[in-house]
Amino acid sequence: MENKLRIAIQKSGRLQEKSVKLLRECGLYFSNGPNRLKTESYNFPAEILFLRDDDIPQYVEDGVADIGIVGENVFLEKKKDIEITQRLDFAKCRLSLAIPKGDTYEGIQSFDGKQIATSYPNIIKDFLAKNNISAEIHEISGSVEIAPGIGLADAICDIVSTGSTLMSNGLKEVETVIKSEAVLVSGKSLSAEKQAILDKLIFRVKAVNKAKNTKYMLLNAPNDSVKEICSVLPGMKSPTVLPLKESGWSSVHSVVNEDEFWDKIDELKALGAQGILVVPIEKMIL
Ligand code: ATP
Ligand code: ZN
Repeated sequence: MENKLRIAIQKSGRLQEKSVKLLRECGLYFSNGPNRLKTESYNFPAEILFLRDDDIPQYVEDGVADIGIVGENVFLEKKKDIEITQRLDFAKCRLSLAIPKGDTYEGIQSFDGKQIATSYPNIIKDFLAKNNISAEIHEISGSVEIAPGIGLADAICDIVSTGSTLMSNGLKEVETVIKSEAVLVSGKSLSAEKQAILDKLIFRVKAVNKAKNTKYMLLNAPNDSVKEICSVLPGMKSPTVLPLKESGWSSVHSVVNEDEFWDKIDELKALGAQGILVVPIEKMIL
């Protein structure tokens, strides 16, 4: 018991599936029935607790769980004595201020003396204080976006990813309060044994996330353009160049950034590259 790392993840909701997927990609095998509150990994010293995401910071502070996966927005809102150990690069969203579409907006001072409905009172209070604005905060726990329409508030502060929910409720986003993504949080006094397990897990998370943003690229190139092609494809160290059976041709292998590879493909084709393959990388250890 004592030597197992207790990991709290969301029981159901937007973080659930991706949290489970991340742990599995890190090589933790466990069963995940629909009504489970707790499960053990068969092959890694960890127990997984399924909890409401809003409760996770408290459980981690109390040491009921050693670490947890929550949105950064929840971490910031709850103000518990815990820390972010690793950013996880999923569930990206922002917490924004929005007002009715027809209202004019003249900067942050427009919120002075207004009523703002939100599920994130602490975050918005900090933001307003930093900007010397005083507004009245109405804390509501869900369906925040209907508040202006029913006369409960002048504005809202809520989570936005595409903005379509705001739009369909006749609101417009006017100010980003914070940007958020899923984060791994941990308590501040883990035993040395648990810290060692956590370090191992974080090492794996980094390898998985690094791999997500990169692709392995293979292509065939005429020998006289290999040098130029290699300068386009810097790779992790240097590209691998192997001779093809057909003389005058080589196979060039490299690792490229996800967001760069379309640009690279155009350049490579222009340099005579053929048979370009781009394949996913599962784990990447640097
Ligand atoms: P409840 O606690 O009632 O289940 P919740 O809003 O806390 O609702 P979810 O909607 O499952 O829970 O959201 C969990 C987290 O996922 C949020 O705290 C936020 O960090 C992130 N998130 C929320 N909405 C989006 C979105 N549209 N796109 C990406 N991430 C989001
Ligand atoms: Zn929640």
